[in-house]
Amino acid sequence: MNFVSTPLLSIYLHIPFCKTKCSYCAFNTYTQFDHLVDRFVDALGEELRITGAGAAAYRVHTVFFGGGTPSLLSHAQFERIFAALNASFTLLPDAEITIEANPNDLDRAYLAPLRALGVNRLSIGMQSSSEMELRLFDRRHDNEAVVRAVDAARGAGFDNLNLDVIYGVPQQTMTTWAATLRQMIALQPDHASLYALSLEEGTSMHTWVERGKLPAPDDDLAADMYDLATEMLAAAGYGQYEISNWAKPGHECRHNLQYWYNDAYIGLGPGAHGFANGVRYSVIRSPQRYIAALLPPSQQPTGAAFPLTPAVDEATTLARDDEIAETLIMWLRLTREGVDRARFARRFGVDLVDLHRPLIERFTRDGLLQVDETRVRLTDRGRMLSNVIFRELV
Ligand code: SF4
Repeated sequence: MNFVSTPLLSIYLHIPFCKTKCSYCAFNTYTQFDHLVDRFVDALGEELRITGAGAAAYRVHTVFFGGGTPSLLSHAQFERIFAALNASFTLLPDAEITIEANPNDLDRAYLAPLRALGVNRLSIGMQSSSEMELRLFDRRHDNEAVVRAVDAARGAGFDNLNLDVIYGVPQQTMTTWAATLRQMIALQPDHASLYALSLEEGTSMHTWVERGKLPAPDDDLAADMYDLATEMLAAAGYGQYEISNWAKPGHECRHNLQYWYNDAYIGLGPGAHGFANGVRYSVIRSPQRYIAALLPPSQQPTGAAFPLTPAVDEATTLARDDEIAETLIMWLRLTREGVDRARFARRFGVDLVDLHRPLIERFTRDGLLQVDETRVRLTDRGRMLSNVIFRELV
């Protein structure tokens, strides 16, 4: 296979199971579904087989197990998924393979076989160092578990670790947030993702705020927390490469970069989203319906063109203008590199500045965008007003 001319593909696998539901979580994930996990793994294998049959033109450079809690799967279940993955797709030898994990699930005995299977990046849900906040979040781990998990991961040979933390949460203070950041930095992850709480309807936290049991999140305080994080992470040697993501040099998440370039990725598993071959799609959200759509496996071709499968719920073929607009919005999130004009022109056949000259000139005059021969980037002020810019660009 000629790798030089072969397009790169990323694969997201959604594992929709958790032991308990966190109070802020609106992800498509279910508790008390242990009895479904094995059949789900079979269904995922079948979904991989069907999509892989149409993906011979691609080489896979990232795989991301998200959720949900992928670290609830057993070694045997991971082995079955990897067997299907390797039988169906061409994975590059240096592919980035990430698993999201709950700190409580991680010890050397669990992690070493995963490392041997080819997993080379771990994303650990730390969320906070404050025991009070962890209880408020209904997390099933404490602060000590995070320390142990990082230690176990390093001991098992993982040299690419991410820690996730949340800010802008009711009752969180600058003091507890600074302590969380200090502890996170002391653990020396290679990558840090900082998420602002988004209070979503249907979550316990949303109900508590609605009923007055918790104060509403304070946006100004959240902005101050973001500024503090920016300062502390920069001082600790982390480069910010995206609005919510920081990394030590060379540890930027290649899987997430694929999303921000709006390049081809397929999403498998209940509720996953994908974009490949000009088609944006989502998979059936219900695990039971997802399994029923894929099992028993059919020996017949499905007739659905890549990336579609019988488990796809909705699909839209993007018009070129929509793809350009979506790509711009995603790409501008890359705060450090911005939009590479030559790469944009290769993909869409037009220079970005020529395409949006009046708007880009106005945003540049207003100090929101910075434009040079090679790139278009948000300025610091532009980052704060990114929603306004994105709205006008579409
Ligand atoms: S572990 Fe993650 S996916 Fe599961 S409920 Fe908590 S936040 Fe949601």
